Amino acid sequence: MNYNPSQEEINFVNHALEEFNTTAVGPDNHELLNIVEYDSKGNVIAGILGGTYWGWMHLDILWVDEKYRKSGIGSRLLKAAEEEAAQKAAEEAARAEEEEASQSGKTYLGTFKITAYCHCAKCNGRAGQPTASGAWPYSGHTVAMGGVPFGTKLLINGTVYTVEDRGTPYGHVDIFMDSHEEALDWGLHYLDVYQVN
Ligand SMILES: [Zn+2]
Repeated sequence: MNYNPSQEEINFVNHALEEFNTTAVGPDNHELLNIVEYDSKGNVIAGILGGTYWGWMHLDILWVDEKYRKSGIGSRLLKAAEEEAAQKAAEEAARAEEEEASQSGKTYLGTFKITAYCHCAKCNGRAGQPTASGAWPYSGHTVAMGGVPFGTKLLINGTVYTVEDRGTPYGHVDIFMDSHEEALDWGLHYLDVYQVN
C-alpha cells in the first residue's frame, strides 16, 4: 500500500468511483447549492455552501458573520437551502417521469386537473347531445379537453381515453361518465397524463 499516492493516482480513484456510481445508480446530477446573505450595504454577512445529488443535500459550510450571530440568519439560510433542495428533487422526479414515459412510447404531458361530466343538462346545458366531434360519448372512453386534436389518446390512471369533446382548456381533462352521480363522486383530481398516440 502507498499512503502517499500521487495526485494522478488520486484522480484515477476519483474517476473510477464516479464511473462506478454512474453505472450503478445513474448520473448523480450533482448541482451546486450556494446561498449568501448581504447586509444593507451589500456586504456578504452569511453564506451556505453545498450541493445536491441523488436527491440528497449536503452542506459543506454554514458561516455567519460574528456580528450577526443569533439573529436567525443561519436558520433562515438553512431553510432556504432545504427548500431549494426540495425544489431540485421535485424537478428531478419530473424529469425522470418524462424520460421513463418517452422510453415506453408515451409522452408525459404533465399533472393535469381531472374532472368528470355526464350527459345531463347540468353538465352540458342540454341533455343527450353528441360530443363536439360528433361521436356519441361513452364512459371509459370519451374525454373532453381543448388544445389537442380530436382522436388524441390520453393515458390517465391506467385507462386510455380519447379526446372527442371540448369544454375545458388544455391541462384540464373532463372525463365522460354514465351518470351525474358518478361525475359528482369523481370530484376533482390532479393526475399524471400521458399521450399515447
Ligand atoms: Zn351531469
